[in-house]
Amino acid sequence: MEKKAQAEKSGHIYLPNHEAYHEKRKVWNGWIDRYPSAIFECKSEEDVVSAVKYANEQDLEISIKGGGHHIAGTAVCDGGVMIDMSKMNAVAVDSDRLLVEAEAGATLSDIDEEAQFYGLATPTGTVSETGIAGLALGGGFGYLRGKYGLTCDNIVSVRMVTASGELITVNEAEYPDLFWAIRGGGGNFGVITSFTFQLYPVGPEVFGIDVMYDYNDATEILKELDVYMQDAPDDISINLAILQLPPAPFLPEDLHHKRVITLSGMYIGPLTTEKKETVIQPLRELAVPLMDQTGMVSYIELQKKLDPMVPDHVPMDGTSLFLNELNDALISELLEQIEKSNELPMVMAQLWALHGEMNRVPADETAFAIRGARYLLLIDAEIPTDEPSKCFNWMDQFYEAILPFSYRHSSYLNGVKVDPIITKNTYGNNFEKLKKIKQKYDPKNKFRHNHNIKSE
Ligand SMILES: Cc1cc2nc3c(=O)[nH]c(=O)nc-3n(C[C@H](O)[C@H](O)[C@H](O)COP(=O)(O)OP(=O)(O)OC[C@H]3O[C@@H](n4cnc5c(N)ncnc54)[C@H](O)[C@@H]3O)c2cc1C
Repeated sequence: MEKKAQAEKSGHIYLPNHEAYHEKRKVWNGWIDRYPSAIFECKSEEDVVSAVKYANEQDLEISIKGGGHHIAGTAVCDGGVMIDMSKMNAVAVDSDRLLVEAEAGATLSDIDEEAQFYGLATPTGTVSETGIAGLALGGGFGYLRGKYGLTCDNIVSVRMVTASGELITVNEAEYPDLFWAIRGGGGNFGVITSFTFQLYPVGPEVFGIDVMYDYNDATEILKELDVYMQDAPDDISINLAILQLPPAPFLPEDLHHKRVITLSGMYIGPLTTEKKETVIQPLRELAVPLMDQTGMVSYIELQKKLDPMVPDHVPMDGTSLFLNELNDALISELLEQIEKSNELPMVMAQLWALHGEMNRVPADETAFAIRGARYLLLIDAEIPTDEPSKCFNWMDQFYEAILPFSYRHSSYLNGVKVDPIITKNTYGNNFEKLKKIKQKYDPKNKFRHNHNIKSE
């Protein structure tokens, strides 16, 4: 594989007295304020090995930063070594073998753009600035999940630095137990330096679903969406969001501060007249739309469409739950809880419909165990810095109110705070096997700044 040239191969170490230290310890969530004792900004696998060995020699904990987007800010730790992979972001496509190799600091857009050069794509997420590493290791839900599964389902191989500082290749043939564990087990097992993913022909144009409805029609829309999803084809994946619109100049004034429902998605199958009628049109008629920009769009453009909605370094709180179904009781509870958030500066509730290939993978085939839920609920709220408890209290009571409707009390670990009960519930029957693999490869729990699988 031809690799993008890397100008420098040797990274930098930032100590607390360095002028760039405070910039380098920042992560996406502006609420996170942690102080590592050293930040290793790696530019090569050798740098990563050195960072792990240094942490071992100094008996320091390790946190790993890919794109720094985890809501809990697990990429940065207090007092330990922060291994920052963001400068290792080269991507190389092997179009004959339909494989892409991406260094672990790549963002989704680094991969999308290189792969689309060949008319190819691998399932990633829906905001292009997100890091591939955390997303892939914890699941990875994008608009190709119905057709081609989660990002973790498409990992073919990784290169990894273990807790003892050894550089290894992990795939179906080499270290198969680790290969099982990293597909959903997060950053518990080592520092991934690069991933190889499966590619598929996608685009360059796809059919983008982009409809905005009035929140007043929420009940009807959610019920209709649930009926639609019962027979939705794999070619379509749909995300719904409930949010209050900002007073942005690109929006008509009558929509400023209005609570709306947006439906976004992607259809990648052949678009016959019949498919337009049966697969696309129902999504445009869940109620009377306020806006509808559904139509052909480049894959890259659709993958970047939500980027402006999620600025960096805003203080955020968030939680998530997988759901069994969208029944009447849940819909009414969900809307009641959302309406209680009126005093918060910004709240977004997202419901991602889960179906198709991602749910056909047996729950014990990878560490990622959630293969039977029908929806993923994600809640994000901006924390008002003058009264943060208002946000935390609302989030906690929201979570408790929806918990009885959840799929086995499980959450998307990439979108929830660190909590050992949530971790255990989410791994379900895979948890004991994960613990054994953790004991084998990281007995001292060096990699603990994550949804931690404790070996003991
Ligand atoms: C704006 C936004 C949009 C999002 N959209 C989506 C989406 O559409 N679909 C989706 O599935 N998720 C989405 N997410 C959630 C996303 O999956 C997580 O935030 C994920 O952690 C991002 O990966 P990262 O590398 O940026 O995270 P980081 O915060 O850098 O890392 C999170 C954790 O991953 C592990 N990790 C990171 N790099 C490595 C490595 N090289 N080796 C070993 N472990 C590592 C570590 O444990 C680290 O603590 C979104 C998040 C945000 C903030």
